[in-house]
Amino acid sequence: EAEGGKLEIRPRLADVFDALTYRERYQELLEQTGRDGLTGLYDRGRLERQGPMRVADMIAAGRSSSLVLVDIDGFKATNHRHGHSTGDQVLKLVGQKLTETMRSSDNIYRYGGDEFVILADGMNHDTALAVAERLRRAIESYSAAEKLPVTISAGVATCPYDGENLSSLFASADTRLYDAKFAGRNRVVGRRGAQSGDTTAQST
Ligand code: GH3
Ligand code: MG
Repeated sequence: EAEGGKLEIRPRLADVFDALTYRERYQELLEQTGRDGLTGLYDRGRLERQGPMRVADMIAAGRSSSLVLVDIDGFKATNHRHGHSTGDQVLKLVGQKLTETMRSSDNIYRYGGDEFVILADGMNHDTALAVAERLRRAIESYSAAEKLPVTISAGVATCPYDGENLSSLFASADTRLYDAKFAGRNRVVGRRGAQSGDTTAQST
């Protein structure tokens, strides 16, 4: 102990490793924070922390920004008929298709249950409708090919016209999502009840 003073100033190799591991773990923790465990997408908490400022920034910059609210059709029945683990696969698949379809600058959140939110900074309404429609079709054709029953409906709202903050945009997209469900599901609804492109009738 008496001669220990000098030696202990030098960091021991094991301590360096511990520190690195700790830092890496911390980085990993930061990565995981605000992410949904099942899909790996951002979670609702992160939307609530980041979303309002993102929308405010776009409005301040005089740019539009679109919110797409996606909900899986008849997901309760999917769970019921095919089991919860197939349901989980469907959630992962939708998350994957969302990631493939959107630009890397778009933020995708699992809002909860079978609902997803896309916040696309700088994206105008027509583009957002077109992108949501592309997503809908991608999921529909994958579903047909894999015989996995999954379609989605979506409501699209764009600032500043449809709302000037996250919650009013969300409310507007939510009303349109409801319209899409009411109109028969497997469709995208935007402003003035306009639908982007044709919708294919479900075969089942
Ligand atoms: P609609 O077409 O009107 O959207 O009908 P729906 O059956 O999809 O109705 P709703 O969106 O209310 O159903 C959501 C269901 O999602 C209910 C719940 O059991 C299921 N769910 C929520 N989270 C999970 C999950 O993590 N895994 C699985 N497998 N199911 C989940
Ligand atoms: Mg649903």
